[in-house]
Amino acid sequence: MNSQKRIYLSPPHMTGNEQHYISQAFDSNWIAPLGPNVDAFENEIKKYTNVRGALAVSSGTAAIHLALRLVGVKPGDSVFCSSFTFVASANPILYEGGIPTFIDSEPETWNMSPDALLEAFKDAAKENKLPKAVIVVHLYGQSAKMDDILAICDYYKVPVIEDAAESLGSLYKNKKSGTMGAYGVYSFNGNKIISTSGGGMLVTNNLEAIDQARFLATQARDKAIHYQHSQVGHNYRMSNILAGMGIAQMEVINDRVKQKRDVHSRYQEAFNGVKGILFSPEAKDTVSNRWLTTMNIDHEYWETSPEEIVKALEAENIEARPVWKPLHLQPLFRNNRFYKHSSECVSENLYRTGICLPSGTNMSVEEQQRVISLIKANLHEKITKQLVQVKGVI
Ligand SMILES: *Cc1c(COP(=O)(O)O)cnc(C)c1O
Repeated sequence: MNSQKRIYLSPPHMTGNEQHYISQAFDSNWIAPLGPNVDAFENEIKKYTNVRGALAVSSGTAAIHLALRLVGVKPGDSVFCSSFTFVASANPILYEGGIPTFIDSEPETWNMSPDALLEAFKDAAKENKLPKAVIVVHLYGQSAKMDDILAICDYYKVPVIEDAAESLGSLYKNKKSGTMGAYGVYSFNGNKIISTSGGGMLVTNNLEAIDQARFLATQARDKAIHYQHSQVGHNYRMSNILAGMGIAQMEVINDRVKQKRDVHSRYQEAFNGVKGILFSPEAKDTVSNRWLTTMNIDHEYWETSPEEIVKALEAENIEARPVWKPLHLQPLFRNNRFYKHSSECVSENLYRTGICLPSGTNMSVEEQQRVISLIKANLHEKITKQLVQVKGVI
């Protein structure tokens, strides 16, 4: 076992100031869910993202679920969702008995392909069964092609839910990721760019909808002195203690974006000029928070698979992961429909070749250098016919 300190993929990065807000919660005995820290955290997110309404909840998954409740997904309803994402993007569709249809990625953002989305809509219109919502994911901090996606969804009058769990602080045409659809969702899970250990936020400019979400997230208790309920509710509100962490974390969100981007630049520089090693693009008119730096190994040049790199790093006490396995390839969703970008399946190609590299904002430059050296030492060049000839000459 390697004795060096473990390097994690994306560990929490506290400022120290969290304790201050947590102490306030203790001193005032606001230990119950809700309270002044929750209000203040919601206000910070509203200010930062420039949206009118925000609701702090227990997880990003809960926020997606609430958005689906708000658009009224019922058993048997269809919902379109990005395929290349974490399962939490789609699980809440199943909570409501909805049926996900998965949409492939396109190569410029790795996110939802407008071409595939349009195909899915055309079929749905023909079958007279439009989806209740489209869940667009901004993977690893890169915003999807929102103008194209919104134009298609507006045409069919279907609301967009932005899963911005990984993209707080990212921009699309100077607008904050998560603020362009009907609803946006952020996550503050331990691995995200800022963390409340666990938590999420639903944002929207529709204040009536936020009130309704608040109601649903608080057991859907009707306005009456006695306990009266007419709808199914959830217990999804964020605790006042954890919201205290969120306030302190929001004080450094811009630093965290910069630090993530610096990590990414160092990786990119280290592999500059190495053929067949590719980093995810930053699409035109977007700024990515570079939540995780991903690297793709072109099998034309390299024998090495993502799994081999992950294993080699693990042997040195370093955490790396393959990129998300597309949801249309998951056993859970084997019966669901899937629309490819073109004759090629972009998400599958990315999955076969992609790795998420350690991207912690608290990773030192020396630690990152160690990761880079190990990757380089474990890349094995493919011996092509041409290369054999060249080597034969030498
Ligand atoms: C983390 C994540 C979620 C879920 O957020 P939680 O707060 O962990 O529930 C949803 N979607 C994506 C893309 C994520 O990365």
